[in-house]
Amino acid sequence: MKHLSTLIAALFLQCGISMLVAAPIRVLLVDGQNNHAWKITSPIIQRILEDAGRFSVDVVTSPPPKTGEIAHFKPKFSNYQVIVSNYNGEPWSDETKASFVEFVRKGGGFVSVHAADNAFPEWKEYNQMIGVGGWGGRNEKDGPFVVFKDGIILKSSVPKAGGGHGSQHDFLVVARDGKHPILKGLPDQWMHVKDELYHTLRGPAEGMTVLATAFSSTAKGGTGSDEPMLMVTRFGKGRSFHTTLGHSAEALNCVGAATVLARGVEWAAIGKVTQAIPTDFPTATETRSRK
Ligand code: ZN
Repeated sequence: MKHLSTLIAALFLQCGISMLVAAPIRVLLVDGQNNHAWKITSPIIQRILEDAGRFSVDVVTSPPPKTGEIAHFKPKFSNYQVIVSNYNGEPWSDETKASFVEFVRKGGGFVSVHAADNAFPEWKEYNQMIGVGGWGGRNEKDGPFVVFKDGIILKSSVPKAGGGHGSQHDFLVVARDGKHPILKGLPDQWMHVKDELYHTLRGPAEGMTVLATAFSSTAKGGTGSDEPMLMVTRFGKGRSFHTTLGHSAEALNCVGAATVLARGVEWAAIGKVTQAIPTDFPTATETRSRK
């Protein structure tokens, strides 16, 4: 009898633990203003996350630009574990910015997708979270460029506008910290589907870890340096993941880009990654696209 009750207790404990593990991570995807086709890319980001089987995703769409309505945009960040931004538009109100900063500072996750790192050039804490960003008047006043040379991270304070890209093409993503939970178990190098390869991003870059780079070829209009593609930073108790990948539907649907996005969202939310690696992950010579 005693054995049976112990067994039942153990079963309950196991069920309890697996229920905890299976609880979906609450994600808020923010969009509504962007110089990119957010009405096309947001549903793809949502589907990538839902297909990963770890998330429940809500979307909050800001008012359109030039209506003055952005002043009334007040998402309830604290209802979620991680905020994913597909937003590159007008500044939020001081109240909304403060609630976002508080959310991340207290341990919330943040993920910046592609042109979200163009947003909010004047917002100090946002730039600390993304580490580096581009455009919007960013220059040497905002922090150094961050590149890799001969495998070593270099910061340059050369006066120059931050943010650029050459012509779109397939390119090789190279891990620089393959032991990080977001990249652990993935190939060290993989071909990314045709995308904009961002270069000359600059910002505070304080405590930023570059997880992966890509070589920005001068033949394609790039810099001749290995540019940061995937980054993580800490902000207070919060975690931030920054992917520069994902200009278009095609680029987001790269199995590599989609995998690191879903893994990055989980890591930003809970500090670990439990997702299996897709069997059709791209190789160093071959791109793979989601069906
Ligand atoms: Zn773009």
